[in-house]
Amino acid sequence: MSQPILPGATIGILGSGQLGRMLAIAARRMGYRIHTLSPFADTPTGQVADAEIVAAYDDLEAVRAFSRQIDVLTYEFENIPATTVEAAAAFVPARPGIEVLHITQNRAREKNFLARSGFPVTPFKAAQSQNDIVAGIKDVGLPAILKTAGFGYDGKGQYRINSLADVDAAIQVIGNGPWILESLVDFDRELSVVGARGLSGNFVHYGAIENTHRHHILDVSVAPVILPPGIAKQAVDITRGIFEMLDVVGVLCVEFFLTQDGKLLVNELAPRPHNSGHLTFDACITSQFEQQLRAVCGLPLGSTRQLSPAAMVNLLGDLWQGGEPDWAAACTYPDVKLHLYGKQVPRPGRKMGHLTALAATPAIALEQVLAARATLWSPKLPGQSPLTPPGDM
Ligand code: AMP
Repeated sequence: MSQPILPGATIGILGSGQLGRMLAIAARRMGYRIHTLSPFADTPTGQVADAEIVAAYDDLEAVRAFSRQIDVLTYEFENIPATTVEAAAAFVPARPGIEVLHITQNRAREKNFLARSGFPVTPFKAAQSQNDIVAGIKDVGLPAILKTAGFGYDGKGQYRINSLADVDAAIQVIGNGPWILESLVDFDRELSVVGARGLSGNFVHYGAIENTHRHHILDVSVAPVILPPGIAKQAVDITRGIFEMLDVVGVLCVEFFLTQDGKLLVNELAPRPHNSGHLTFDACITSQFEQQLRAVCGLPLGSTRQLSPAAMVNLLGDLWQGGEPDWAAACTYPDVKLHLYGKQVPRPGRKMGHLTALAATPAIALEQVLAARATLWSPKLPGQSPLTPPGDM
């Protein structure tokens, strides 16, 4: 096995968002250097990196120059062109490997891989044309969700189809195919399992995390979660199986639906730390970010033990509509941790930060974190907080 990449070495991150930022924070704490490359300047990752390279992903000369300066390459989002990673991989190990990226950056490839490998997935049909969509509806039934096969995240590139009459509008809104058509799952709840796998094939996980989405964007995550017997083990077994089948070295998150009749279906894979795992930053011995660092550096993985029940809420740009949120008010909750990503423009739906509460029980943590978030809204103009009513998920 190759030698571990030790503190003092430089980690290269393709992408420059909050996931890279939190990896960089974990890496710096352990004495590593961080270089990031993305098309943007003054980024969440760049602000805490040793070097921020601003270049298009298809600027392969810049990618090669970047790769000469680093000891290992990883990503903080999966929509990186394969040619970019190939150019970098000529100089340094790329972890997770190109194959993992290739499969997970396209929903149709990902679902086909999962179904072919025997993992339970939402009924789906890949579609290239309007006729395929209409034919697909006969197979998956209505209501259905049409999703672009590539470059979708946080509900972008998704449209709910209630009747055949919606197909035109769906294409207009989400744009040209290829697409994937899925039946709308009437789930009881959404779960995720974040895992990590080292170079020697050892696997660790953080157990099941319960997630609530609002307008297709993650809103709240809570752990630990009490589930019907056998479900948590099944979710972890599926996750481990996916890691092994894809030979992942690094962190990967499996998102699940738990159906009303108690079946687990894989919704999506993310080959990197995941928003639902942000609570591991404050609640676990080793966060998902430190785990990513350890895995891609070939170090032994750390303990995933959770030290306290925890709940996390996202802070979206919508929260700024009433003016700068009242940070001091949220800080009056001593068991709530504030994370902000350094983004300058608070667009609606944009992930600007998150709060994590630690408490004696998951229910108290949830109550605390929601209360802390509610104090952030400081309307300059009269109006309702975008966070109320809390129902509309
Ligand atoms: P995704 O980007 O595919 O993870 O979708 C974001 C969120 O949209 C999911 O976490 C669900 O809340 C919802 N969603 C996506 N696909 C489906 C589906 N087939 N059935 C029900 N809800 C879905």
